[in-house]
Amino acid sequence: MSGMRTEVAIVGAGPAGLLLSHLLAQDGVDSVVVERQSRQHVEARIRAGILEHSTVQLLDAAGLGERLHRDGFEHRGIYLQWPGERHHIDFLDRVGRSVWVYGQTQVTKDLGRAREADGQRILYEVSQTAVHDLESDTPSVTCVDRDGADVRIDAAVVVGCDGSFGPCRAAVPEAVRRTWERVYPYSWLGILADVAPSTDDLIYAWHPDGFALHSMRSAIVSRLYLQVPNGTDVETWPDDRIWAALATRLGHGQDGWQLTPGPITEKSVLPMRSYVQTPMRYGNLFLAGDAAHIVPPTGAKGLNLAVADVGLLAPALVALLRKKDTALAEAYSDTALRRVWRCTHFSWWMTTMLHTNGDPFDEQLQLSQLRWVAGSDAGAQGLAENYAGLPIGF
Ligand SMILES: Cc1cc2nc3c(=O)[nH]c(=O)nc-3n(C[C@H](O)[C@H](O)[C@H](O)COP(=O)(O)OP(=O)(O)OC[C@H]3O[C@@H](n4cnc5c(N)ncnc54)[C@H](O)[C@@H]3O)c2cc1C
Repeated sequence: MSGMRTEVAIVGAGPAGLLLSHLLAQDGVDSVVVERQSRQHVEARIRAGILEHSTVQLLDAAGLGERLHRDGFEHRGIYLQWPGERHHIDFLDRVGRSVWVYGQTQVTKDLGRAREADGQRILYEVSQTAVHDLESDTPSVTCVDRDGADVRIDAAVVVGCDGSFGPCRAAVPEAVRRTWERVYPYSWLGILADVAPSTDDLIYAWHPDGFALHSMRSAIVSRLYLQVPNGTDVETWPDDRIWAALATRLGHGQDGWQLTPGPITEKSVLPMRSYVQTPMRYGNLFLAGDAAHIVPPTGAKGLNLAVADVGLLAPALVALLRKKDTALAEAYSDTALRRVWRCTHFSWWMTTMLHTNGDPFDEQLQLSQLRWVAGSDAGAQGLAENYAGLPIGF
């Protein structure tokens, strides 16, 4: 068994784990990251793509914003749509904050490069990750490295940034942890297409056939989604069927608007659920990002919540390890969960407002809600404030 010693052992090199190691290093705190996948795999995973205002601010402050501002796109709002109507909700006008379109793949690459330049210790392609002695002052992480050697990492603190399937959340004893879950009766069929977006801002469309979303990744790559039933086999959706459904639901021809199809380069089905596990700290184990909570992607919050958690956790760990000041670490779970539940509610609200479920009464309530959000200052303001994002620590 080869042994390593560090101050913070981080499980998972997704956005939460990489950003945490970066922020800690800026304050001189040493960390070691272990990751199940290869670096190439982590950097190629097509996932989130909308960065809210506070995420951009934090990445800028951490010296990670250069490529984001060069290659990303600032968006001032979204369109809300239902048959025959499309309304723009302008975030900048309403709350003075914008969002940026910049893929999670790019955020992860920027983080990967920054960590590499810093000489960060990251063990990719590990297996059998386990966490130990979390209630003690000497917690540890063990795993098997890519060459098959046993590794043990001794630390002062372990942070679970290992997403929804990692071992850390399950390491909190059943008697201590509490979970909340909502599984939705539909999924998203998502595509990436090599075609310029047919819209300047994202279009969120309610339609009797089901929800559709027109998003984008760049000036030449579009990202689009269709609501589909759970258990949908992607093979039953050939490209022509996808483009035809998108044209119908997004309103091709409505007021002269055209949806331009193009070659589809990626296609997958994403089930949707809300999940929260509390507390986000147990002894010397802290949870951050998807390890503690999952939101359906309708509110574009998953990646942003991971960043917000880490934005709170990094200074808390610096204070704990450098000054023996426990206040921020003790407050971490409660402080983070305030925002987690706000984003959980917003994501649930956007999801249930926009996805059809076959119930005619619910359809009328959804349309009424959409008309109110688009037509009233109070409704539009609420959506804008939540979508563009509340401050970290809200
Ligand atoms: C298919 C998909 C599509 C998504 N689309 C959107 C979207 O459109 N918009 C949006 O806002 N959000 C989206 N999300 C959510 C968003 O991507 C996540 O919220 C975000 O990645 C959270 O970052 P994280 O670092 O907490 O977790 P993750 O990115 O999941 O990172 C966790 C890391 O831990 C590693 N790991 C797991 N187990 C172990 C182990 N045993 N040992 C070591 N390492 C381990 C994983 O390999 C992974 O690299 C999507 C998620 C998925 C899965």
